[in-house]
Amino acid sequence: MVKCVVCQSTIEKGEYCDAHTIAKNNLEKRFSDWQKAYEKMSWKEYLTRISDDADIPVGEWAKEVAIYLLEQNKK
Ligand SMILES: [Zn+2]
Repeated sequence: MVKCVVCQSTIEKGEYCDAHTIAKNNLEKRFSDWQKAYEKMSWKEYLTRISDDADIPVGEWAKEVAIYLLEQNKK
């Protein structure tokens, strides 16, 4: 057994629990939409926007994943 890297709930395998896996997939999907709208947006800028801007309707789970990924980026 391992733990979800975001919420620490116990999962059988992988890095993310079901909810955070869905949230991460949604984040990635939305990023490709955003790249069409804002051509030069990088993944990191995108994650920063998602985690900082309360007006972006992505849901708490997606925000938690964005914050986690940004932390990983710093290392
Ligand atoms: Zn989780």
